[in-house]
Amino acid sequence: MISVDEATARILAAFAPLPAETVSIADALGRVLAEDVVARVTQPPADVSAMDGFAVRAADVAVVPVTLTRIGMAPAGGSFGGTVEPGQCVRIFTGGPVPRGADAIVIQEDTEVSGDRVTVKESAARGRYVRPAGLDFRAGDVGIKAGRAIGVRDVALAAAMNHPWLRVRRKPRVAILATGDEVVMPGEPIGPNQIVSSNGLALAAIVVACGGEPLQLGVAPDSADALQSLTAGARNADLLVTSGGVSVGEHDLVRSALSAKGLTVDFWQIAMRPGKPLMFGRIDGTPVLGLPGNPVSSLVCATLFMRPAIAKMLGQTDGGARIRKVVLGGDLGANDRRQDYLRATLGTGANGQTIATPFARQDSSMLATLAKADCLVIRPANAPPARAGEMVEILVLSDTTASL
Ligand code: AMP
Ligand code: MG
Repeated sequence: MISVDEATARILAAFAPLPAETVSIADALGRVLAEDVVARVTQPPADVSAMDGFAVRAADVAVVPVTLTRIGMAPAGGSFGGTVEPGQCVRIFTGGPVPRGADAIVIQEDTEVSGDRVTVKESAARGRYVRPAGLDFRAGDVGIKAGRAIGVRDVALAAAMNHPWLRVRRKPRVAILATGDEVVMPGEPIGPNQIVSSNGLALAAIVVACGGEPLQLGVAPDSADALQSLTAGARNADLLVTSGGVSVGEHDLVRSALSAKGLTVDFWQIAMRPGKPLMFGRIDGTPVLGLPGNPVSSLVCATLFMRPAIAKMLGQTDGGARIRKVVLGGDLGANDRRQDYLRATLGTGANGQTIATPFARQDSSMLATLAKADCLVIRPANAPPARAGEMVEILVLSDTTASL
């Protein structure tokens, strides 16, 4: 059995960033940038008004009230071509370019207008309500760094920087093969000793949430023939993920069936709970991650090992595992040589501290507690007993994003 850290390092070593491709910014949400987004324009392009009002010379309105002569108009998208001389002002609107000679904006609410006579009732210092050119960014500025998954705010910034297209990493193709004679798909006829497959669908959901493209190979019964023929569908995948059939029982045929087809095993079995029977290897050049069949083991292992592999293929530098230190909500016994990931809820203590309370039963078949959990409490191998109130590390779970 190898440690979680060693397994992670060995898995990551097998992956490299995929090639880049060009997508419309309209399709870029969630994709990972392959290149920095550099501003192609300066924003704002000139000194512009931040308010509706009048462009004035600040010196003219140092003492108020004072009456100025309106000599023109500067709407957004237009401009006033002349120069504001002493005693003059220009009607201006939000986003309108500040005319030559003017250096402050008096807001409309602080004026009284009668024909072209504008009486200013409040003074305005130089620069008041003026957005100088380049206030937001200048052409050539790096707005978003390569390696970041594009979020809603990044779409806004990249668009403002005048990018109709973006260079992103190709989505990793992840083939998913569930195994087991007892496993049927949701909605299929279900026999007396059969169970409904949750793993294939949940793994595909994690792949999508991580920015990959799942490829469902279906459910292979526990026969070497079926395993071999369904696995052939992974030929063009960047990663093959299997669930079940990698433990020590007579029906756990994934390793033997695929070895007959050229699988080389890098390692098998890791010192963690849930998820001891985890296999990593390569078949026909495609990396293979053999996840345990128990649903919680499968999903926790996918979070710990599949997600970072996808992130590496995407060249992603943000969004690593969300590890935090919080207060433990209940006593825990000494741990054995396997690192534990305990499903737990998060609450808030009397002093505002975050408290993680593990569920009493941690059986790796119990999906309902995984769905209710807010985090996984990480218990290192051979940890001594822990008392409520001590600090523990947790991995924060999420409804919507990569982790679970
Ligand atoms: P295995 O690793 O194949 O021995 O499976 C361990 C446990 O996980 C067994 O109880 C299986 O019934 C269950 N299991 C295997 N595959 C799935 C699946 N796709 N969805 C839900 N449970 C599964
Ligand atoms: Mg099985």
